[in-house]
Amino acid sequence: MHSYAEFRQQRLAGTTTCSETVSSFLKAIEASSHNAFLTVCKDSALEQATAADARFEAGTARPLEGLVLAVKDNISTKGIRTTCASKFLENFEPVYNATIVDRLVDAGAIIIGKTNLDEFAMGSSTENSAYGVVDHPTHTGYVPGGSSGGSATAVAAGLCHVALGSDTGGSIRQPASLCGLVGYKPTYGRVSRYGLVAFASSLDQIGPMTVNVVDAALVTEIMMGYDDRDATSAEREDTTLDISSDLDISGKVVGVLPAEQLEGLEDSVRAAYDNHIQMLRNKGAVIEEHAMQHVEVGIPTYYIIATAEASSNLARFDGVRYGVRKEHEGEDIMVTSRSNGFGPEVKRRIMLGTYVLSSGYYDAYYNKALKVRHMMSDFYKELFSRVDMYFLPTTPDTAFKRGERTKDPVKMYLSDYYTVSSNIAGIPSISIPAGTDEAGLPIGLQLQTGMFEDAKLLQWAKAMGA
Ligand code: GLN
Repeated sequence: MHSYAEFRQQRLAGTTTCSETVSSFLKAIEASSHNAFLTVCKDSALEQATAADARFEAGTARPLEGLVLAVKDNISTKGIRTTCASKFLENFEPVYNATIVDRLVDAGAIIIGKTNLDEFAMGSSTENSAYGVVDHPTHTGYVPGGSSGGSATAVAAGLCHVALGSDTGGSIRQPASLCGLVGYKPTYGRVSRYGLVAFASSLDQIGPMTVNVVDAALVTEIMMGYDDRDATSAEREDTTLDISSDLDISGKVVGVLPAEQLEGLEDSVRAAYDNHIQMLRNKGAVIEEHAMQHVEVGIPTYYIIATAEASSNLARFDGVRYGVRKEHEGEDIMVTSRSNGFGPEVKRRIMLGTYVLSSGYYDAYYNKALKVRHMMSDFYKELFSRVDMYFLPTTPDTAFKRGERTKDPVKMYLSDYYTVSSNIAGIPSISIPAGTDEAGLPIGLQLQTGMFEDAKLLQWAKAMGA
């Protein structure tokens, strides 16, 4: 794995160049059989590397000069195919960049390619891609998690410095956890969603997947900030993510889960959780048990809100406005195009979403889910008036074998048991690497703080060694 912060030091010291680095990443991508990338931008990346070297030589290197970036393929890149891992968008080339892509490129990042994902970011294993599964970076036959599995593998297999993911219910943190990376979902509204192909607009958030928290802060500081093209973008005065000073943990209150909410955790994850709590205690933190309220309804609430919004967002893919058109004589173009273009998981979600929004069931499902959403936000508000940081597992277990959960969607959905609540409430959260299990599979643990306490969240992650 290659950290950008370390690379930058080496480039400034003259012990490496951007051209060499990009070439070696391209070689590694070619040699890799992970299927992490759907598109590789070889020529433009090499060209930009030459320009980046010139800037370093001239002493005009920008904050992310020469950072080799992989972008999840549901984020719009002008003139670069953006498929959302769907057959429907096989040939789609956006005519504009997502705001964050513009910001990162203007700061010197080099896009090396677009990464594989679960179709339209729906899934937890990257097995729902129309372009083939992604292999776990170190354990062949295992999944890298999802939906940002291509991005996780790209970083963890050493194919780029940093990758971007999107997180609607855990899709940055869960694959980061399964692949031994830092995965950070910023506060909702912190990072512009303009140009992110919408799955569930009130839950989606873009964030970085990195080797360490320093890289995560560097990249997010460039991405974040108000964007008038995103109606939910937050206008804030704090525009930096400074994590240079060390957080003094001593005397700080950390909320942890009570034993009954840890039932079902794999032993290795439980042991890592307990060890890290002990480590915090040793550093002087005050540990308090706080049960996560409504956790048992987190998954149903998430799947009602997410599918309801998805069924509406995906209406634009009809073979007329967007998507590959299919026609059969005497049949409706939209029905034929949608039946052919979407994969089974996307269809399942559209069906579910349409159902919970239908007039007979709206109150029973959708309205009820919104009420739970309010209760969860209230829970967090109260919690963060009492604790500095809330510490929990990221996933109940480590990476699983390919095919193991595809026949049982509910089991797959449970991968996000500990992650969906932060999307539902909008708070920031981060998964950090926390060792490995007996088979050498990575374990991740999750930190959460209050709304817009992103800098504090990253400081905690750094203090815990990430
Ligand atoms: N795994 C969850 C789902 O399938 C979350 C996906 C995401 O965060 N994009 O919806």
